[in-house]
Amino acid sequence: MSLIASTAGIVSFEQARRRVEQHAATVSPGEVEMVDLVAALGRVLAEGILADRDFPPFARAARDGYAVRAADLAEVPARLEVVGEVKAGDWPEPGVCSVGLGQAVGIMTGAPLPAGADAVVMVEHTSAALSSHPKLSSHPNVAQNATLGWGTLGSGTLGCDTLGCDALGCDTLGEKFVEILRSVRVGENFVPRGAEALAGQLLLDRGRRLDHAGIAVAASVGKSRVQVFRRPRVAVLSTGDEVVELDATPGPAQIRNSNSYSLAAQVQNAGGEAVRLGIAPDERGRLLALIEEGLQCDLLLLTGGVSMGKYDLVEQVLGELKAEFYFTGAEIQPGRPVVFGLCGLETPVCADGGFAANTRTGVSAPHKKYFFGLPGNPVSTMVTFELFARPMIEALAGQTPQRLIFVRARLKSEIRIKTGLKRFLPAVLSGEFENAEVELARWQGSGDIAALARANCYVVIPPDRERIEAGEWVSLLMR
Ligand code: AMP
Ligand code: MG
Repeated sequence: MSLIASTAGIVSFEQARRRVEQHAATVSPGEVEMVDLVAALGRVLAEGILADRDFPPFARAARDGYAVRAADLAEVPARLEVVGEVKAGDWPEPGVCSVGLGQAVGIMTGAPLPAGADAVVMVEHTSAALSSHPKLSSHPNVAQNATLGWGTLGSGTLGCDTLGCDALGCDTLGEKFVEILRSVRVGENFVPRGAEALAGQLLLDRGRRLDHAGIAVAASVGKSRVQVFRRPRVAVLSTGDEVVELDATPGPAQIRNSNSYSLAAQVQNAGGEAVRLGIAPDERGRLLALIEEGLQCDLLLLTGGVSMGKYDLVEQVLGELKAEFYFTGAEIQPGRPVVFGLCGLETPVCADGGFAANTRTGVSAPHKKYFFGLPGNPVSTMVTFELFARPMIEALAGQTPQRLIFVRARLKSEIRIKTGLKRFLPAVLSGEFENAEVELARWQGSGDIAALARANCYVVIPPDRERIEAGEWVSLLMR
């Protein structure tokens, strides 16, 4: 038996989401291309990113201070001879700049740990903290050190910024000492070579969508260009006799086409490339022609025309094209009439059995394509896109499937609602730091696009709740 249920009908939110996820797991991304690293933001890696050397490539100091042998500090305060200094970028040549018994080497964050050292003591925990360093003079530990009676040493300032470095990356300082006020454990305050990754280790998986942190990883291994998947082309088709394009002057009973634009933005945000096909009237022939055009993209998104009205023709026309429906509604509000299915053109346009390249979409399309019929109310369109269309676009973009995660926040004012449907209600998340609180957006129904734009999330209410009190924790779908 197929794992993928194909029974159309109205299903629960979770069933609908699972069905999309199951189908999304069967699709393949398009070709690969090389792009410059910064241009790869939001793109999906078609190659794994490997460590080109050990990370860190040397035992790296994590603090400014002194490289020491932890055993020398079994009893503190302890006085150590300072035999040199290593700053970031220096290489402490073993034998020339090493830490022996009773010795220390001044070290800066990011510098390699000299041979013989097995820990770093923070400068704040030494007498050098009482030197002239502007940051340290106000450090809480310094005050503590002062009460312990430690002062700067007569032999001169042993702080981190007064010493030059020779070619070997380690100054010889002669007879200078530092007082260490706290003991350290072996391994403290430095990162051993290869602790983050060994050379050849996989750092980022193929299928990972690159954010700024992923870009940092690619940069750290020297990738100025990366291989990514082509963005899937997603056809966006609005429907409705009342809907007009932005450059038209709307008649008294007409509204402008906002859904094609919000959807294009959401498609782009999800890693796809939107192909806007304009507006299909509520008329069978023209709708059919535009659906056929849309099926030449990697995915087709329709908006409007999926409700129970006499002129809601989308399902009917898709049915004529022998579409397979996986659901024709979900127990959610807004967005209940949402439709999901698979459809291919009956008659191939080319003699070889493929489809002719379409002038507008720029692609030929030999396979069946998934489609979503999203209800036309602007909020329904936006919510159902996030809940159902997004994972399909991510899969077509080559991205490893992402789970839908709701976060939680405290409700600011009570909500009363009818039971029976899972609600995704536009809301405003506010507060500061750990004190996030959320309340429903005030609006005049699901056509109130401006109120929707002022919201920044959706409160998710389970179907069995009819009253949620102020102060309760509620789930949120972030926008
Ligand atoms: P429908 O789903 O076709 O019944 O449409 C539901 C509501 O959404 C109606 O008020 C439509 O006018 C409105 N609507 C449909 N398509 C669009 C669109 N492309 N842009 C803005 N509003 C729309
Ligand atoms: Mg309509």
